[in-house]
Amino acid sequence: MSQTLLKVKGLKVAYGGIQAVKGVDFEVREGELVTLIGSNGAGKTTTMKAITGLLPINAGDIEYLGQSIRGRGPWDLVKQGLAMVPEGRGVFTRMTITENLQMGAHIRKDTAGIAQDIDKVFTIFPRLKERRDQLAGTMSGGEQQMLAMGRALMSRPKVLLMDEPSMGLSPIMVDKIFEVVKDVYAQGVTVLLVEQNASRALAIADRGYVMDSGMITMSGEARQMLDDPKVRAAYLGE
Ligand code: ATP
Repeated sequence: MSQTLLKVKGLKVAYGGIQAVKGVDFEVREGELVTLIGSNGAGKTTTMKAITGLLPINAGDIEYLGQSIRGRGPWDLVKQGLAMVPEGRGVFTRMTITENLQMGAHIRKDTAGIAQDIDKVFTIFPRLKERRDQLAGTMSGGEQQMLAMGRALMSRPKVLLMDEPSMGLSPIMVDKIFEVVKDVYAQGVTVLLVEQNASRALAIADRGYVMDSGMITMSGEARQMLDDPKVRAAYLGE
């Protein structure tokens, strides 16, 4: 079996007195596409933010490559190969598309490689190429999502964490985003995908975890979960 890259153990996160994540365990192995699904307010985003050091942890630990990364900030994690596409995209609105992509490569010094990778991102998302000199803040939601994904890929991550990349996008754009997630994974990047669009996420994932009220309530092979009547009833709108 392949190596465990990311391991979340007994994770608890609170906002003031409110426990949003109540002791969560899961893992992501090298080369896997794992999805974390669940309804609004389940604690998925909170979990992602805790992994990337954007929120303090109350209890438990997060290991990356066998070592605790508790308390490490996003900058440090990107350097180690763990990149995040945050919910709401988080692009640098006053920078151009090209500048945003360059920012994604801030940990790298190989100028020629960076230029090549920008071209690669432009091949994946031709729209970004057309708008390369446009300020990111003036782009549509879908375009900003593409940019956020492109920017994360610029660090050449080993693991890509994505928080609801399909949120608020048109059906065509959702198709495009899922296609790119699949391609990125096919190229060997390990992916942890948080999604409300459970059926689409399970359709491309190896394994899935269901989160509900701050806890993992179900987990398994993604295909089996897709066929599970309980999952279908609760999360696939059937
Ligand atoms: P969604 O899919 O709607 O984004 P989620 O599963 O990502 O949901 P979280 O955003 O992690 O859920 O929220 C988990 C719980 O924590 C919710 O009850 C939410 O109201 C609460 N919460 C989130 N952010 C804060 C905050 N900054 N302050 C207080 N409570 C918060």
